[in-house]
This record gives sequence, structure tokens and C-alpha cells, in this order.
Amino acid sequence: MTEAEAPAPATAPHVKTRAPFQRSCNEKDEKGKICAGHLKRWYGASEEIKRQHGEELYRCEYCRTIYNPAPGFEQRSGTLQF
Ligand SMILES: [Zn+2]
Repeated sequence: MTEAEAPAPATAPHVKTRAPFQRSCNEKDEKGKICAGHLKRWYGASEEIKRQHGEELYRCEYCRTIYNPAPGFEQRSGTLQF
């Protein structure tokens, strides 16, 4: 576990919604190549982002795209926590 989370950038972040069971980023770069970075639980969100998107957020460790959990797909009690 790393504590080296960078503060959220001042610009509006790119927030996507995760698909159920999605574990890697499907964001494409300008050449159409899929990023495929790991989505990790993100604890470094600013208060404003949390207000807009909720506490449970994930972020691609590669391109830093932020993901919401899949709608209607509530986190189960601790089973997927580290
Ligand atoms: Zn990515």
C-alpha cells in the first residue's frame, strides 16, 4: 500500500463509470490503443470530487482516469477490500 498519493489536480478530472467486475482501464489514447492500467481504489480524491461522485472511487494507475463504481453494484461487505 502506498501513501504517495498526489493531490488531485485543479482541473476537472475525467470521471468514468466502471463496468461490473471491470479491473482494468478501457480508456483509449489518441491512437485508439486501450490503456489497460489497473483500477485501484482511490483515497486521494478532493472533497469536491467526493461530493460530486461519492466516497467510493477508483483510479487508473496509469492514465489517472477516475472511475465511479458500477451503478446498482453495491460494494459487498469487505470481500473485495485489501
Ligand atoms: Zn488508464
